Amino acid sequence: EKALVWLRRDLRLYDNAALSHALRESKQVWLAFVFDTDILQPLLKGELDSKGLKHDRRVDFIWQGLKQIDDQLRQSGGGLIVRFGKPTECIPQIAKELGVQTVFTNHDYEPSANDRDETVKTLLSKLGIEFETFKDQVIFEKKEILTNSNTVFSVFTPYKNNWLKTLQEKDLAAHDCNPKQGQYAPIPKKLDLPFLSLESMGFCPTGIESYLPPGSEGGQLFLDDFLSRIDQYQVGRDFPAIKGVSYLSTHLRFGMLSIRGLVREAHRRMLTGSMGATIWLSELIWRDFYFMILANHPRLATGVSFKPDYDNIIWESGAHAKKLFQAWCEGKTGYPLVDAAMHQLNQTGYMHNRLRMVVASFLTKDLGIDWRWGEAYFAEHLNDFELSSNNGGWQWASSSGCDAQPYFRIFNPITQSEKFDSEGKFIRRYLPQLEKLSKKTIHAPWQAGHIELEAAGIVLGRDYPHPIVDHDEARKKTLVRYSVVKKVT
Ligand code: FAD
Repeated sequence: EKALVWLRRDLRLYDNAALSHALRESKQVWLAFVFDTDILQPLLKGELDSKGLKHDRRVDFIWQGLKQIDDQLRQSGGGLIVRFGKPTECIPQIAKELGVQTVFTNHDYEPSANDRDETVKTLLSKLGIEFETFKDQVIFEKKEILTNSNTVFSVFTPYKNNWLKTLQEKDLAAHDCNPKQGQYAPIPKKLDLPFLSLESMGFCPTGIESYLPPGSEGGQLFLDDFLSRIDQYQVGRDFPAIKGVSYLSTHLRFGMLSIRGLVREAHRRMLTGSMGATIWLSELIWRDFYFMILANHPRLATGVSFKPDYDNIIWESGAHAKKLFQAWCEGKTGYPLVDAAMHQLNQTGYMHNRLRMVVASFLTKDLGIDWRWGEAYFAEHLNDFELSSNNGGWQWASSSGCDAQPYFRIFNPITQSEKFDSEGKFIRRYLPQLEKLSKKTIHAPWQAGHIELEAAGIVLGRDYPHPIVDHDEARKKTLVRYSVVKKVT
C-alpha cells in the first residue's frame, strides 16, 4: 500500500518506469535520492576553492535537477527525501521509517551499481520489504536483442538492424506517472530535513545552468530547440563549430529526459523520410548498444580490453609518457584542433563527438598513451560521463573494442581539422591566440611561414606550443606498436 521510489539516474517525474509502477500499485508514494558518498568522496580529491569546496559540474547539475523535482513534489503535497551517505544504509533506513512495503527503482547496468542493488535488496528483505526494479533508461536491454543463434551482438550494424526490426509501438509507450489526489504524501516530520545544500557535501555552485539548463525543464528546452533542426542533423553533426548536434547527452545521462520520448520523436520523423532523424536515431541506438555490451561483459568495468590481445600492447611509460599526457590534458600538444577540443572539455565539461574521436585517436595513436588514461580523464571531466559509452568510445578509438575501427586506420589530426573545421572557427573560439592565422595555416601553425606568424603576432614556443610529436613518425611507431595484435584484426 505504501511505496518508496529510489531515484538514481532517472531524475524525472514523467514517463519513469519505477515511479509509474509505484503509483499504480500503492496508495502513498515517497521519493528519495541518495548522494552516494562512495561515488562523491573520490571526486572531492584534488584542487579545492578558497572555501575548501570542490568544483564539479555534474554534482551541481544533479543537485539542481533534484531541487526542481522537490519543488514539483511540494506543489503536490509531497517532497523529495535527499540524503548524503551510503545507499545501502540510507535506503533501508528511510524505507523502514516510512513503513513502506516496497522499494521501486530502475535498472542500472554498471557492475558496481548492481552489487549495491543486491546488497540493498538483501537488507530490505530482512526488514520484510520488497525490492522491485524495472527497465527504464534504454529501449532494449541485456539480452533482448540477440543474433539468430541467440548470442549477444558485438557488431553494431546488425544489432541496429535487429533493434529496428524488433521495435514496436509498445516499446516506446510512455509510463503513466500521473498521481492521484494525495498520492504524493507529505514527508513525515522526522525525515523532512531542510533540502541538503551543495556546500554541506563539500561542493560549490559551478554556474553550469548558464549554458546547460538542468532538469526535465532544461532538457525540454534543448529538445525543442534540437527538434527544429533535427532534419539537418546529418549535414551539421560532424562540424564542431556548428550547432548541429542535440547537446542532450547530459540530460539523458541523468534521466532528466525519457529515452522513449526521444526515440518516439526520432522514429516518427524517420518514417516520414527524415534523414537527419534516421541518423540521430542510430546514435541513440549506439547508446543502447554500449549499455547492452557492458551488461553482458561486466569485465569491461575492470579496465580490460574487449579484445584480450590488445592488452599485450606496450604503451609509452615513465616520465616521458606523463609529460605527453599532461600536454594532452592541458591542450598544449601544438595540434590546434586537439588543443581546442581539450579546452572545450576543460572549460565546459562537453566535447563534440567528432573531437572525442580525434583526441582519443591522438592520445593513443600519436602519443602512444594507454587509452585507459584518456578514459579516466574523460570520466573525471565529461558532464555526460557514462561508463558504457565512454569505455566503448575509447576502445573504439584504440581499436581494442567491439566493432572498433581497425588499428591501421589512424586519424590524421591535420586533415581532420581541415575537413571538419575548415575555416578554423572552432579553433579560434578556444585558442584566441591563433585568431589571426589564415584558414589555411591554422590547422598546423608550424607550417606557416615566418612572415605570417609574425604578422599574426605568434611566436611558437611562446604563444603556442611546437607540435609535441610528428604525426608521420608517430603513425609508423603505432603500426609497430600494434603489430603484436596484427593477427587477430
Ligand atoms: P548527439 O549527436 O545529439 O547524439 C544524441 C545522443 O545519442 C547522445 O546524447 C548520446 O546519448 C547518444 N550517442 C551519440 N553518439 C554516441 C556514441 N558514439 N555512443 C553512445 N551513445 C551515443 N557519450 C556519452 O553519453 N557519455 C560518454 O562518457 C561518452 N564518452 C565518449 C568517449 C569517446 C572517446 C567517444 C568517441 C565518444 C563518447 N561518447 C560518450 C559518445 C558521444 O561522443 C556523445 O554521446 C555525444 O558527443 C554527446 O553529444 P550530443 O548529445 O550532442 O550527441
